[in-house]
Amino acid sequence: MAISSNMHDDIEETLISEADLQARVRELAAAIQRDYAGKDLVLLGILRGAIMFMTDLARQLSMPLNMDFMAISSYGNATESSGVVRILKDLDDAIEHKHVLIVEDIIDTGLTLRYLMEILENRNPASLAVCALLDKVKEREKLIAPMYTGFEIPDRFVVGYGLDFAQKYRNLPYIGVLKPSVYSE
Ligand code: 5GP
Repeated sequence: MAISSNMHDDIEETLISEADLQARVRELAAAIQRDYAGKDLVLLGILRGAIMFMTDLARQLSMPLNMDFMAISSYGNATESSGVVRILKDLDDAIEHKHVLIVEDIIDTGLTLRYLMEILENRNPASLAVCALLDKVKEREKLIAPMYTGFEIPDRFVVGYGLDFAQKYRNLPYIGVLKPSVYSE
């Protein structure tokens, strides 16, 4: 693994630019603002990948809301999600009777989210929905929750704007694909 001193040098291709990300976040916020007007909204960010998206989204919303975070890890190996989730950090506050919007970085197989939603449904929120920045286009069973999606992307491994490779590249302001040399050397 060879990570350059300038992260941008490791990017083969920019998939979504910073300007496009920011424009789409504003659109998503407008839809959320409309749908949740007058409701007691909790933005539930999934650590660590959703941090950039969560903070940008929250700043575009003008209604009062709560922000809470969960850290989860998926059992299984690094590349394949098993769909069984271990909670590393739980929410600080109860969500009973609250309108909960899960803010997630990316949906791949959808297994992580499905399992997480089961756990959260058992806590009796008033409603439970998902706002995912990226959605990999692939065959999967439909998620039951209503959903906001930022961008549909091809089934490639992406980094940036919260998403990591070996815990690096989260601070890239755009979404990109790594050069193969980063993995192989
Ligand atoms: P799923 O259970 O939907 O297969 O996995 C979702 C999780 O896998 C995401 O929250 C993210 O942490 C990780 N993941 C899936 N695809 C990618 C990707 O292309 N890049 C990065 N950095 N993480 C990914």
